Amino acid sequence: MGETIRLGRIAGIAVGVNWSVLVIATLIALGLGVGSLPTMHPGHAEPTYLVAGVLAAALFLGSILAHELAHAVLARRRGVEVEGIVLWLLGGVAKFRSEARTPRDEIAIAAAGPLMSLVVAAVLGAGAGLAVVLLGTGLVVTVLGWLGVLNVLLALFNLIPAAPLDGGRILRGVLWARSGDPSTAAVSAARGGKAFGIALIALGLLLVAILVSLDGLWLMLLGWFIVTAAGAEEFHANLKGVRVGDVMSRAPVVAPDWIAVQELVDQYVLTQRCSTFPLRGFDGRITGLLPLTTIKRTPASQRTEQRARDIACPIERVATGHPDEDLTTLLERVRGTCGEGRALVFDDAGELVGIVSPRDVSHARELHALRQPQRGQQDATTDGRDPTGPRGAVTR
Ligand SMILES: [Zn+2]
Repeated sequence: MGETIRLGRIAGIAVGVNWSVLVIATLIALGLGVGSLPTMHPGHAEPTYLVAGVLAAALFLGSILAHELAHAVLARRRGVEVEGIVLWLLGGVAKFRSEARTPRDEIAIAAAGPLMSLVVAAVLGAGAGLAVVLLGTGLVVTVLGWLGVLNVLLALFNLIPAAPLDGGRILRGVLWARSGDPSTAAVSAARGGKAFGIALIALGLLLVAILVSLDGLWLMLLGWFIVTAAGAEEFHANLKGVRVGDVMSRAPVVAPDWIAVQELVDQYVLTQRCSTFPLRGFDGRITGLLPLTTIKRTPASQRTEQRARDIACPIERVATGHPDEDLTTLLERVRGTCGEGRALVFDDAGELVGIVSPRDVSHARELHALRQPQRGQQDATTDGRDPTGPRGAVTR
């Protein structure tokens, strides 16, 4: 999930929020302020409940932030490059640009979040106790107590040994320490995550179908998120150590960018077994990338008038990489670019030496899996590490 608004820095860590955090904040504020609090403590003015609900939502987000900050601060202290923290619909994410160097670091960084949640729960519990003594039971005690319990649940849920949850990181650290192989450990933790996510979705479905409880929808959403994130982690772990040069298709067929689309179809598409054509200009430089699907989308009547470059992805909008670069790093950049998941590879001299397509990537994964025995952070309502981001943005 991307960042919508940058809030600033806390302890040197960039903190931002995604717009979707408003959904969870509103649900909490209304759930407490309009739903439970007036029922549990009748006799106050309506705005009082709403203010209490809004404060509870703010404190809830604050506790998630504390959880993520614990991950991020410890990560930075252990030499992991921290990109920042984002709060969103399902909690928080601490994004890392690099990974823990040792299993011990992995375990410590992962455990820091749930530990912080337990500390926050203890502080809230003490606050609730103090409020009972000073004010007697009432709104304040209920809100503090609710937040305390929620933080304990947050810690326990995130300790479930399923990546991308913190427990999955801890599991990965333990397996890594035992086998000495971080990638195999990551794949195992990610598979645990997938299984757990599927179980959550199934449970959510049951809740909706049998009890007609809408809470089931949250479980399904959370499960889907965990399955997706775990899948991305497994994907990255499977490609660990693979270089762009190892998987790219070499010496791609390059077409001139000034010829008509129909001419390109006749001379290149129908004679070459390629699904994408890099284009070059008069000066020999690569000017763009033209996928077959784009050609197909161009009406036949326009193919004689339009030139190849008119319908191609301009080179500025195409992902480019170097043969010696990590494949996963390049794939991070491919997301959101033009060219249907493809990237062009240039050598030090700026010459086009290859092209990486989704097919090359899946082929590489299969080969990688054959070559070695089967061998990433994210929390939920949690808090999480960014599924997409690793090895770029591991989230915790
Ligand atoms: Zn966490």
